[in-house]
Amino acid sequence: MAFSSITGQKQIKMRLAAEARRRGSGAYMLSGPAGSGKRLIAEEFAKALMCPDAGSDGACGVCSNCKYFDNFTTPDVTRVYEPSDTKNVKVDFIKDHVVAESYLKPQFARTKTFIIDFDYLGVESQNALLKSLEEPRKDVVFILTSSNTDQVLDTVMSRVTEIKLDPYSEEELEEIVKANCPDLDEAKIKSAVYNSGRIPGKAISLAMEDSGVSLRHEINSIMIAMPTSSYIDVLEDFVDVLTSFKDDSKIVASAILLFLDDAARLINYPDCRKINNELDREAIETFVASNKHISTLKLGRCTEAVNTFLRALEVNSNFDSSASAMLLRIHEELKK
Ligand SMILES: [Zn+2]
Repeated sequence: MAFSSITGQKQIKMRLAAEARRRGSGAYMLSGPAGSGKRLIAEEFAKALMCPDAGSDGACGVCSNCKYFDNFTTPDVTRVYEPSDTKNVKVDFIKDHVVAESYLKPQFARTKTFIIDFDYLGVESQNALLKSLEEPRKDVVFILTSSNTDQVLDTVMSRVTEIKLDPYSEEELEEIVKANCPDLDEAKIKSAVYNSGRIPGKAISLAMEDSGVSLRHEINSIMIAMPTSSYIDVLEDFVDVLTSFKDDSKIVASAILLFLDDAARLINYPDCRKINNELDREAIETFVASNKHISTLKLGRCTEAVNTFLRALEVNSNFDSSASAMLLRIHEELKK
């Protein structure tokens, strides 16, 4: 996994994995159009920098530093992404959380990393960073991203190593779309890729519009009703959905996983910009707000139940009993 879990950008991934192993310091600027996967690569690079066992594919994924990274609990990685309340990040935030922090040594990892999306940085904030970018500590790395480097100050660009993302091939784009919309037929995948301008984010959103929207909607209604419904009612509704998507129990399971993921995201980050299922966002927000007894821990146990169900399908266990066992566990966790 690690870098290889990201499709495309082979040269860049190899280069960044090598940089991470070398433990270089300094500042990198990943540039490419919006939706081209810069953030995904930036995150994976930061993780590799954190990991003491990073190899040619980046982070090991199992050490404690990798775990802290995945749980967003490491003090050694600072992310500056889109602010929830203003257009740009406030300059005071940059001064307090980036500039000041960049003079301190890392606490757990060997490298302290700052991932900063320059699409949300005004001139003042960019200027505030100049000195830190020019003379970073030996154990500090800045990973900057930009969708439009024309809006980045020349004085910034002259202090960073720019890495331009490569264009994606059609095959890579199809693979990316397939991974995100497994229920979409071949022709629709091709059409999404064709109309995407070779930008994966765009291809995914075109495909999403076309795929399983109604199924996700139905699953979401069942999940939202779960806390106040009896197990028998839940089971009946669920059997109806399963009957109409009979051959695709994996898709039904992935729709439940997406719902659980969205609910957890909205508990942790109520203002987050994007969830998996934006169409049902309001309903999921209401679900989270009106069910304060549901914690991310409970949602995590529900996710575990779905994964158990998927594993059971793989070994051809009895479908009906596996599905009802999953539902029963989810119902137990979510009911009021
Ligand atoms: Zn690791």
